[in-house]
Amino acid sequence: RAKEQGRNRYCFFEIEMDAALKARRGLEVDLRRALSDGGVHLVYQPQVDTTGQMTGVEALARWAHPTRGLISPATFVPLAEDCGLIEDLGRLVMRQAFADSRRWPGIKVAVNVSALQMRQEDFPSEVAKLLIETGAHPRSIELEITEGALLGDDETTHLAIGRLRAMGFSLALDDFGTGYSSLSYLRRYPIDKIKIDRSFITPLGEDSEAGALVASIVGLAKALNLSVIAEGVETDQQRSQLRDMGCTDAQGFLFSAAVDPEAVDAIVARGGQVKPQDLTAKT
Ligand code: C2E
Ligand code: MG
Ligand code: MG
Ligand code: MG
Repeated sequence: RAKEQGRNRYCFFEIEMDAALKARRGLEVDLRRALSDGGVHLVYQPQVDTTGQMTGVEALARWAHPTRGLISPATFVPLAEDCGLIEDLGRLVMRQAFADSRRWPGIKVAVNVSALQMRQEDFPSEVAKLLIETGAHPRSIELEITEGALLGDDETTHLAIGRLRAMGFSLALDDFGTGYSSLSYLRRYPIDKIKIDRSFITPLGEDSEAGALVASIVGLAKALNLSVIAEGVETDQQRSQLRDMGCTDAQGFLFSAAVDPEAVDAIVARGGQVKPQDLTAKT
């Protein structure tokens, strides 16, 4: 009986899997189309220093699906990676972000680069081509990679990072603290900046261990002469605690969600100040 039930459950599972696979394949077709007809666009989230001055923006991809609405990059980036579309997506993102960077002199534009992209042999030369095409300056671009991209100490990645650094890009290690051997990566790769993952910032104030962890990451960054920025800052309390720890740069809903390029133009036009928002009033 149990066996029979098990088999039934298995069949049910198979049917569900089949439906899930079909849905996925459909989404894949839609993504391929979106990449060629402008369905994927960029928004930019401001990064600020202690004075509330915007020093950079992070480019974040958005997919406006014709029937499903806005789809999160947390869904479509892994999909693109799985179905061989990550290079197309990456190229689209870089082309747009590079072009937009010319609108905002003095503002760093951070671009997320997937681990798979980094492992493509021709990645640095693709990037070089896009620089020429867009006329962007590598000094105003920061490439964000995750520890996953460094995992395995891959030869291609080493070469790529060296070449990108030589071109003038700066490198940030995204989601810092969520990966495996962060400390050894910091020694082996020419990283400029650490982005402390939101999961460490959220519990700040409620949990003294979180405070100790963030303080030690900030200390580590200082000791290694790296810049450091906190991701996902949502409250004034988090911000002031970070400031007390010596982490001057922040990114998060307290200041601004990701906005369209025209809104970044407007911030730049009024001198770059981004005021903390009253998040409670918004909800
Ligand atoms: P990420 O690079 O760590 O980007 C930060 C994510 O946290 C963004 O989500 C941002 O909207 C969100 N966020 C920022 N501030 C706050 C806050 O105060 N509170 C909360 N709860 N969330 C905040 P988003 O845009 O959904 O992107 C998710 C992830 O998708 C990114 O994480 C990044 O890993 C990836 N991604 C986004 N755009 C691209 C892209 O163009 N290429 C690649 N390869 N990956 C991308
Ligand atoms: Mg990022
Ligand atoms: Mg991050
Ligand atoms: Mg994160």
